Amino acid sequence: MSTRPAVDLAGKQVIVVGLAQTGIALARFCHRRGAKVIVTDAKPADKLASQMAQLADVPVTWQLGGHDLASFTSVDLVVMSPGVPTLPEMVAARAAGVEVIAEIELAWRYLHPGAQVLAITGTNGKSTTTALTGALCAASGRPSFCGGNLGNMPMIDAVDHPANVDGGLIVVEVAAFMLENCTSFAPTTGVLTNITPDHLDRFGTLERYAEMKGRIWEWQAPSDVAIANAADAWVVKEAADVRSRLVWFDSRPGATVERGACLSADRKHILLRQAPGGAAAEERYPVDDLIIVGNHNLENAMGAYLGARACGVSVDAIRAGARSYRPLPHRMELVGDRAGVYYYDDSKGTNVASVAASVRGFPRPLVLIAGGVDKGGSYAPMLEALDGVCKGIVLIGAAAPLIRAACAEHGVTYPVVDATDMHDAVARATAMVGAGDAVVLSPACASYDMFQNFGHRGRVFRDAVSAVGATRLD
Ligand code: ADP
Repeated sequence: MSTRPAVDLAGKQVIVVGLAQTGIALARFCHRRGAKVIVTDAKPADKLASQMAQLADVPVTWQLGGHDLASFTSVDLVVMSPGVPTLPEMVAARAAGVEVIAEIELAWRYLHPGAQVLAITGTNGKSTTTALTGALCAASGRPSFCGGNLGNMPMIDAVDHPANVDGGLIVVEVAAFMLENCTSFAPTTGVLTNITPDHLDRFGTLERYAEMKGRIWEWQAPSDVAIANAADAWVVKEAADVRSRLVWFDSRPGATVERGACLSADRKHILLRQAPGGAAAEERYPVDDLIIVGNHNLENAMGAYLGARACGVSVDAIRAGARSYRPLPHRMELVGDRAGVYYYDDSKGTNVASVAASVRGFPRPLVLIAGGVDKGGSYAPMLEALDGVCKGIVLIGAAAPLIRAACAEHGVTYPVVDATDMHDAVARATAMVGAGDAVVLSPACASYDMFQNFGHRGRVFRDAVSAVGATRLD
């Protein structure tokens, strides 16, 4: 547990590292608080014209196309955008006694002590759990904010949001990158959905990545609540030494929890037992309140319900919020139909475990479109989940040879074909399916070898689905 450091940026020199959405918000925020702002990014100015234009009215010193070591070691504060890797300049700044913190850490220091922060992290399910938690909180009628890594509202925007008041509810999705540069961030409730191999290119080992995820609970007070997935061995390991109030969720058949959430025997209700904030010993929430399906989404819902309940959201508000919740785009979204063939956009399936969760037990035979930038883990769990439902795989992007090799090792009997781009991939997949089948884009990889981001990849998929003559359903 740590106390929240006081901050006063007036007259201070601050470096904002990374000029994307969060960097833009940070530069504005620091300027409004009276700081002199330097913005730095590895990309050169000609690649950042539109971002720079968004700060046209803010006096900023630009250091683009690289970073200036002397500035890092002489300013008062360095604030990191999420996604920026550890830089030698950050190490030098720290060695020179300059504080280097994540954007969420700065936001945290400015929040009203009476505002409740509901933070969600994990390898998969973060956005869904965050957006669902946001819907539950909004249904409570209390002022609420929902953002962070999710959507277009970085956590720093919560500071000047109406929810930053006593009793306000601030829901944030948090990535491991953000926790790496925190020193006191202590959410009222912290959900850790799961930990599976991802971002090993950045963190090196699963141990280190898991440790970063576990930091969601690191600075919590005993009165705060840690919400952990009992079915995930890495989460269980990280939960071993929490000092806050630990509650579990467990979706495994027959699983029961003393304090936390599990499912009824018929799996038709989510049961909250001795939930923090709950009056009854057991509360029952119908699964049918939710439009999202699949075991993984029940886990997401359990995490969201426990977090909201711990912050005093009523049972009625949780049920109303759950019923109002609609799935986010690019998560197993049905986007097209052509002669009884269904096309699903799961572009957000950016790692092996998320693809496995999406396709395991899929109700119809499918052809998978996968590939992109490899994340450094094994493809075996995805191939196991595809056993029995997969009719073929169409490969795109740089990871294609790796996935092909994994298919050979797994001994798949269905065809595995290469495609030159997304349009070619959709055409090839369409040629491999018949009425009643599905084509699923769930790439298990990052997108940046061929696309700007997962959203762009999903939109190109949808265009390709139209190009093969499917009716668009989105
Ligand atoms: P994140 O923000 O962590 O990437 P999302 O909620 O956007 O998570 O879901 C991304 C993909 O991960 C979904 O399309 C789905 O296939 C899968 N997924 C969602 N929730 C879970 C979960 N709890 N466990 C495993 N996979 C999940």
